[in-house]
Amino acid sequence: MSRPRVAIVGAGLAGSLLAGYLARRGYPVTLYERRPDPRGGQSERGRSINLALSERGLDALRRVGLDGSVLAAALPMRGRMVHAVAGEPDFQPYSLDGERAINSISRGALNNALLDAATALPGVSAVFGHQLVGLDPKTAVMTFATAGGQVEIEADVVLGADGAGSAVRGQLRAHGLTGEDIEFLDYGYKELTIPARPDGGFALDPHALHIWPRGSSMMIALPNPDHSFTCTLFWPLTGPGSFESLATDAEIRGHFAVHYPDVPDLAPDLLADYRANPVGKLGTVRTAPWQAYGRVGLIGDAAHAIVPFYGQGANCAFEDVVELDRCLRECGDEWPAALARYESRRSENADAIAEMALDNFVEMRDRVASPVYLAGRRAEQFLQRLLPQVYQSRYELVSFSTTPYAQVQRQVRRQHQVLAGVAAAVGAAVLVGVSGALRRRR
Ligand code: FAD
Repeated sequence: MSRPRVAIVGAGLAGSLLAGYLARRGYPVTLYERRPDPRGGQSERGRSINLALSERGLDALRRVGLDGSVLAAALPMRGRMVHAVAGEPDFQPYSLDGERAINSISRGALNNALLDAATALPGVSAVFGHQLVGLDPKTAVMTFATAGGQVEIEADVVLGADGAGSAVRGQLRAHGLTGEDIEFLDYGYKELTIPARPDGGFALDPHALHIWPRGSSMMIALPNPDHSFTCTLFWPLTGPGSFESLATDAEIRGHFAVHYPDVPDLAPDLLADYRANPVGKLGTVRTAPWQAYGRVGLIGDAAHAIVPFYGQGANCAFEDVVELDRCLRECGDEWPAALARYESRRSENADAIAEMALDNFVEMRDRVASPVYLAGRRAEQFLQRLLPQVYQSRYELVSFSTTPYAQVQRQVRRQHQVLAGVAAAVGAAVLVGVSGALRRRR
């Protein structure tokens, strides 16, 4: 019996990887992408240029033999370099052994590698300049806007991998088949560049993710293979120190001089970048259900976009791909059963990482520079050394394991209770000791 024809809408990170996985299962797959072929060299200004890939994403790539080539072009970042307003930057390793790293990679190069790998497989084709504008979820007939006008195309299965603003999700909603909740942050993001030094070297340590935590806002910077850094400002949209409030060149320069004094010397084109690059929105998308009629499904950001503060959106999207493939195998390639199982397994994990990513914003922009946070980190590392099988930090569980996110969240809550118990016991012991000493002195 011939396999159903699968249409994947969106040839971004999730769609391109998914096409390869499904082709390996023997499905004829067509990717429909609204943009021109990215391998032609065009890229969207202001979209994040690089991203951090960690164990979950690497695991998905490893299963199809793509991890080696992707890692070959990656820059490992073994910790955070925290830049205070004054003083030397402070390096905080991500793992207890200081060795484990997240990897800075070019979004464009990764997308191209995934597209190349997918389209090299028999049965996969990719069509560009096709923007989905209509879908009948019952019949899987799709309508695309193209340069030559609208076209209708039929498939057996339609998978929406078309990102946070998913048109497939929009069509499911328009047909009353799904509900969505979009929670925007009062923050936006803007990218800037720290170029390579005149002698060609990196202007900052390339083995760290750099953070300038400033309480209610922050900037981060990730290294690129051309020895530049891509910086991202995460600032409030309105109010003091916001994108809205800084209007004139003098105000922008003045804000950097006061809050990010080391940056203007590192980024000579700061003002031009600031003026030219757009402010992107940040938000969490929650959807339910993720599938309809056993033939339409959502994957990646289309199902569950999250804020970027754990560097997990793409990693999570790649885990979705692995899980959908696993469900198809377990369900004998019966799509209705596989899509339902995939959603039931992934939705609690998507909710968990959405919550942890929001939490991490507060940690990155505020806590990482505080003495209380650093003392807590030291206590946590002590327990990790003492009980390595029992106690692991949330960062390590999220970034260096494939333990399901919801399980990580539960484990970390239990660990924090233990830590609070230990702190209370230590506190009580100290109090007993102090009061004993006081009694003896009286
Ligand atoms: P996308 O990458 O958005 O791809 C969707 C594709 O669908 C695009 O090619 C788009 O053109 C196409 N499309 C859209 N609409 C249509 C349509 N109607 N018809 C046809 N095609 C369409 N994640 C990490 O893991 N690590 C990080 O460090 C990280 N950093 C980030 C930093 C920032 C500032 C942001 C905003 C996000 C970051 N992310 C990170 C998240 C990551 O970018 C996303 O989770 C990931 O791109 C999701 O992949 P996707 O394929 O689901 O969606």
